[in-house]
Parts: sequence; C-alpha cells; structure tokens
Amino acid sequence: MMLNACYCGNDQEYKNCCEPYLSGNQKAPTPEALMRSRYTAFAKRKFAYLAKTIRGPAAKEFDISAARRDAPLTKWLKLEVLRAEETDYQGLVEFNAHFRFQGKVSMMHEVSCFEKIDGEWFYVGRD
Ligand SMILES: [Zn+2]
Repeated sequence: MMLNACYCGNDQEYKNCCEPYLSGNQKAPTPEALMRSRYTAFAKRKFAYLAKTIRGPAAKEFDISAARRDAPLTKWLKLEVLRAEETDYQGLVEFNAHFRFQGKVSMMHEVSCFEKIDGEWFYVGRD
C-alpha cells in the first residue's frame, strides 16, 4: 500500500487526490471525484464539506448533528466504486462503503445521484 494513500482507496496520495477538493482549492471535476471526496470527508470528519457539496433531497435528509454524533463510533475502512456514469448535468456512482460502527463491521451499498449546478457537481440523492 502506498504511503499517505488517499482514504478513498484511489491509488493516489491524499494530497493529489481528495485533499484539493476538501481544502476548497479545486472543484471535483466528476461525480466520482466528488463521491470519493465525500467519503474521505466522512473519514476525516470534515462535516462542513459534506454540507457544502449536497443539494436537493439529499440536503434535506442530511443530519449534520447525527453525522457528528456517529463519527467517533464509526471507522471508515474501505471504499469500492463499482460504477460511475455521467452526462453533462447528471451523474451516478454505485459503490460499497465498508465501515465499522461500534465495533461491528458493516457495509453500505448505494447508488448516489449527482447534479451539475452552475458548473459544480453536487450530491443530490440516492437512486
Ligand atoms: Zn481520494
């Protein structure tokens, strides 16, 4: 495994992968890049980034205080991106996120939906 490998499981260093997005220096250029950076934000407890990159139904559903509360109990173990598709203004990413919650290993499978609004990708909901 690479030294300083990114949390999202991409075969790149964090500073060349999700860090530019989390720091606000760059905008995620694809739904997959945004999805990976949001996983990394969960792993690094960057809640402001999670709130900033969400719109629509997903934003209504997102409970930042619950995310903060669960974060110390959750260890994000691995992300597997299974499928990523995009058109000019819409995208979807299917993934498995492996995590340990209160000591129990578990997995979340999701097809996340994305929309490009004013030139920027946002997470908007689940398929
Ligand atoms: Zn990454």
